[in-house]
Amino acid sequence: MKKKYWALLLFLIFAGNVVFGFQIVYPKKQNVVINSDKTFFIGNEKTDKTLKINNSEVNLHKSGGFKHVVKLNYGNNIFVIDNGGQKQIFNITRLQPVKNAAVSTPKAIYYDNPIIIVTSKDSVPLRSTPVDAGLNRLQHLPAGIEFIATGEERGFYRVKLGLDGFGFIAKDSASKSENESLLYANVQYDNRLNNKKEKSVEFFLDKKVPYTVTDNNSGLDIVLYNVDNFMYEKYEEHIDGKPFGYSSYFNNSGMLVISKKEFPKVSAKTPLKGIKITIDPGHGGSEAGAIGCLGHKEKDVNLEIAKNLRDKLEKSGAIVYMTRDDDSYVGLSERVEKSNYFDADIFLSIHNNALPDSLADRDASGTETYYFYPQSKELAQILAKSVSEQTGFKNGGARGKSLAVVRNTQSIAVLLEVGYMINPDDNSKLINKDFQNKITEGIVIGLERYLRQDGI
Ligand SMILES: [Zn+2]
Repeated sequence: MKKKYWALLLFLIFAGNVVFGFQIVYPKKQNVVINSDKTFFIGNEKTDKTLKINNSEVNLHKSGGFKHVVKLNYGNNIFVIDNGGQKQIFNITRLQPVKNAAVSTPKAIYYDNPIIIVTSKDSVPLRSTPVDAGLNRLQHLPAGIEFIATGEERGFYRVKLGLDGFGFIAKDSASKSENESLLYANVQYDNRLNNKKEKSVEFFLDKKVPYTVTDNNSGLDIVLYNVDNFMYEKYEEHIDGKPFGYSSYFNNSGMLVISKKEFPKVSAKTPLKGIKITIDPGHGGSEAGAIGCLGHKEKDVNLEIAKNLRDKLEKSGAIVYMTRDDDSYVGLSERVEKSNYFDADIFLSIHNNALPDSLADRDASGTETYYFYPQSKELAQILAKSVSEQTGFKNGGARGKSLAVVRNTQSIAVLLEVGYMINPDDNSKLINKDFQNKITEGIVIGLERYLRQDGI
């Protein structure tokens, strides 16, 4: 044990406080309920004494950080943390699962007479399955869109999409229409607008209709449903060219506008010049995010990395917007709205990872990236690779996930989980300034590779 720690320890003991030579950052309280068959103690130890949890020795990283997995039985589980006589006791309760024989899988109901429903608010998800989770969102639709509902399932209306398709709308996002039958729309004409920066289509309709836009590397596939002057009550359109973000909305005159940004032709030397990038440091203010073994808060580490990245990107000629540049709380939808208002080309959310109790024994470390729309997959893959190349972190790859900040942005959007706060080795690196430089170098190299289209 270093001298300065002894001095600090003695000072604090005489000052009347009990100070431990170790710190438990998770579980956050000494009496908690955790409904999992396992959990972990995450923290750090600052003396050279052995740290034991219920008599089993805790494996310490050279930084002092540790992650110690324990099993939980039903009922009360007592854990004694012992650091050479200094003891702290944790009571962790795991509740018995409630047996409820009455719960059965709700069955799908088919109506004898289909009803007409209408979306009652904006941004209502149209889904491919009756589940409020995951990657099943087909589109977000505004208020006032009518559907034929043929039944219901698990709190969703099953709605017709043209003659041969169907989707699901949450029952609390729609109301019964006064109309007894669905009036089909007419697509009167469409208008294409092309320039160097974007390609768009405007549909002139006599009423708002459900629609879907799906993207892939060759462009956007657009389908308008419940139109009666086309085969299968569907009107299909395509906007070609690799997408670089897109948006779709009904304008004030009721026209459906779908607009796709063209992938930019960048200079090989300065690919970032003029590219608008939103950096979104995760969490902030009252929301700390994950707590690292060494006691650091994810929100602070995210912000340090974000500021370092901002400086590098600005030096490279990018135009950068930060959703926060201090320790303030910013809501998820506010982050997205601000970025869309800024008209970002690329949205990058910076986070660091943790694990749920149920995966406590997983030996997780390294970089993972997340995206929602297929148009963002390529950048997500490149960033996971380039960050891991620069830092030596494991490349955990790119994964599709329904996360609010990458789902509602109109730009290319990727969320990075740079490393694991709860992994002692990752944690000790993530807080190191030189290492943070490597992280942001990796991000810049990845962005340049993407913009130059150098391949993955
Ligand atoms: Zn986070």
